Amino acid sequence: MRLTAVCQVCGVHDGVDVAERKYRRWLAGVTGLYVQEVWPRLSNQEREIIIAQRTNYYLCQKEWDEMAQQMEEEEAEEGFWDEGSPYEM
Ligand SMILES: [Zn+2]
Repeated sequence: MRLTAVCQVCGVHDGVDVAERKYRRWLAGVTGLYVQEVWPRLSNQEREIIIAQRTNYYLCQKEWDEMAQQMEEEEAEEGFWDEGSPYEM
């Protein structure tokens, strides 16, 4: 079966194909398994689509990339202040 999710930020539609029985079992929480244990071969992004069926919250790959980039930039800024602080004191 095809699962779809809509990005909360840009509204893009993504989808992933999963075995319905497997999905129903996971959704019902029967197995108590994490998504990555039920679908070890799917990419992180495809797993996000599955998780979104429960949480109703989904971000597309672009959003994750931008978030990762922002974090890198923030880390770079923090690094700058770490280096700068001894000279300020
Ligand atoms: Zn998006």
